[in-house]
Amino acid sequence: MKFATTPEEIHELVNERNFKQKVDRSLELIDYYYKEHGDGLVVANSLGKDSVVVWDLAKRVNPKIRGFVVTTRFKPAATVKFMGELVARYPETIVFRNDDPIADELYKTDPDACCDQLKVQPVREAIESMGVSCWVTGLRCTEGRTRTDYLEVEERDVDLLKLNPILPWHEREIWQYIALYGVPVNPLYGEGYRSLGCEPCTHISNGANERDGRWIGTSKCGGECGIHTRPLKAGAPA
Ligand code: SF4
Repeated sequence: MKFATTPEEIHELVNERNFKQKVDRSLELIDYYYKEHGDGLVVANSLGKDSVVVWDLAKRVNPKIRGFVVTTRFKPAATVKFMGELVARYPETIVFRNDDPIADELYKTDPDACCDQLKVQPVREAIESMGVSCWVTGLRCTEGRTRTDYLEVEERDVDLLKLNPILPWHEREIWQYIALYGVPVNPLYGEGYRSLGCEPCTHISNGANERDGRWIGTSKCGGECGIHTRPLKAGAPA
């Protein structure tokens, strides 16, 4: 298949392809890289709407595909319950969590350090311990200001590919897929959230971008936790 390697080609995918074409392309991408990486291809599941779509797509490609979830001490109770249901249904999903001590309210004083310890480090551990050579994410380029410049396939780390198979999907197409294929979804979306994360850093927002409710009131507002921007291989510079 022909991969989109420039922002112009991604723009074309976002705006010129219909829902079915996007679904078929996502399946084709996962299938192509699963054939290349086998068990080294693993889906990162954040328990949000985009992740459950990617997970469902991956399972359609091959039910043996494995996944990992990174959770934190600050996840909302509804997300923890949803995670338990998902892991019970798919025991090939491994949960990672860093319970080392951190300063009180670090998410207020230094959210980058908090995310680094509670989110980025467990992703590094997942990649190392599961022997991941290609991790699959639910990142989409229409989610917000920090997500416009990604490609479907990234090579940020040595010997680690990152596949973003639903990169060109619109928010509406995510919900279209969830409705059409009956995919279970975190009930917090019913409360009005459009993007989910840790409880202290996630708010309901009607802003133009889906991620506007994340880290409100901090320097990180609408931003990133770091798993899509930081090196992930063990021994990589911080
Ligand atoms: S989202 Fe907030 S609470 Fe969660 S790890 Fe990041 S800063 Fe900490």
